[in-house]
Amino acid sequence: MEDKTLVCRACSQEFVFTAGEQEFYQMKGFENEPKDCKDCRIAKKQERRNQRMNRNSDQQEEPT
Ligand SMILES: [Zn+2]
Repeated sequence: MEDKTLVCRACSQEFVFTAGEQEFYQMKGFENEPKDCKDCRIAKKQERRNQRMNRNSDQQEEPT
């Protein structure tokens, strides 16, 4: 397998979908290639976490 260069749909930057990642995707049975670069994926994940934290903060306080 070879590294692939894909274009991020979020920031339009090129990013590398490495052979190792392709193998990982195949192992997991994912049929689609990643649409976002790593930075955008991390940002999105953090955004989701922030939203969840904001939602929960009204009801309960998580121990730090
Ligand atoms: Zn991106």
